[in-house]
Amino acid sequence: MKYCPICETQYDESEDFCDIHMNIRLIEAISQLKPPTCITLQHSSDGSKLIIKKSCTLGREITDELEKYNDISRKHCELLLKEDGIYVRDLGSKNKTYVNDNELLEGDEVKLFPMDKLRLGMQPFRVIKIDQ
Ligand SMILES: [Zn+2]
Repeated sequence: MKYCPICETQYDESEDFCDIHMNIRLIEAISQLKPPTCITLQHSSDGSKLIIKKSCTLGREITDELEKYNDISRKHCELLLKEDGIYVRDLGSKNKTYVNDNELLEGDEVKLFPMDKLRLGMQPFRVIKIDQ
């Protein structure tokens, strides 16, 4: 048995997500015909939002909204707005970057989808919107 990282539903499959979220991701992948223009992240506990409109580095030193989180590195990760979607890459942060509870290894570029969990150190964010 596995738990879907998005909704925590338990399921008995070889996929990485429950049926519903697997389907949503497939539909998202097909419908991403236009390049993304904006991604909205929301902190899962305190509700604060980060709205990002171009490729950038996220970190305590650079991003005003992240200043208060001590476990986020000065330069923690990079968000890359590419033609075919938005990717996140860890920048050798001390407390690591996780997408849906999977640790990003050095050099990994992981594509983000709406509803994905993005954790910087101990700080849990959720991708709540990707605009095209
Ligand atoms: Zn699910």
